Amino acid sequence: MKEYNQEDYIMLSGIQHYAFCTRQWALIHIETAWKENVHTVIGNLFHDKAHSGMNEKRREIIISRSLPINSRKHGISGECDIVEFHKDENGVNINGRSGKYIPYPIEYKKGSPKTDNIDILQLTAQVICLEEMFCCNIKYGYLFYGKTKRREKIMITLELKEEVSKLFFEMHNLLEKGNIPKIKPTKKCRQCSLADVCLPTLSEKMSVKNYIDKKLKEDEYYEKVV
Ligand code: SF4
Repeated sequence: MKEYNQEDYIMLSGIQHYAFCTRQWALIHIETAWKENVHTVIGNLFHDKAHSGMNEKRREIIISRSLPINSRKHGISGECDIVEFHKDENGVNINGRSGKYIPYPIEYKKGSPKTDNIDILQLTAQVICLEEMFCCNIKYGYLFYGKTKRREKIMITLELKEEVSKLFFEMHNLLEKGNIPKIKPTKKCRQCSLADVCLPTLSEKMSVKNYIDKKLKEDEYYEKVV
């Protein structure tokens, strides 16, 4: 299997954008456009909370926060919110610790469990990295949701790993070609933080002339009321 050089690594967390909309990922990671919206701001604050604090040990569990991770095979790098190393005789040795351990990632999310599998894909990518880094087999990870204040145990199947592999392969290809996928407006566009940059409505409902006329009218309105 091909191995990537470090300078060609892409961000692991980008899989959330790519699985949500390939164009959104390309706008962020190829065109480097980024717009905050209320969801991204709350999400960042929530993650900052998970990342604060030191590493600690509780009984047979070592807790590591903000652990940098990567995979040469998939050409990705990122960070785990939390990794719990559970003592397990089938695990691996950890520098400076007695016994053997298996790492389990815990990804923090601000909202509630989703109907799509985007969070699960991100968690699977973290498992792929940890397996490669620690040469071990990780059967599951956890998603912790801020709304429910509960963690959910997620089994990481071979099918999930294959899907994640395929998505990262596509992302590398797209990045190499520098192509931005065309707009395909869907219901998701309403919650997209890049809707102002992408202009999904422009593609199907309005000609450029009508769009400019509308913008000019809006500007005139704001000049009157401000
Ligand atoms: S506005 Fe719609 S098409 Fe454009 S990037 Fe966002 S989700 Fe994708």
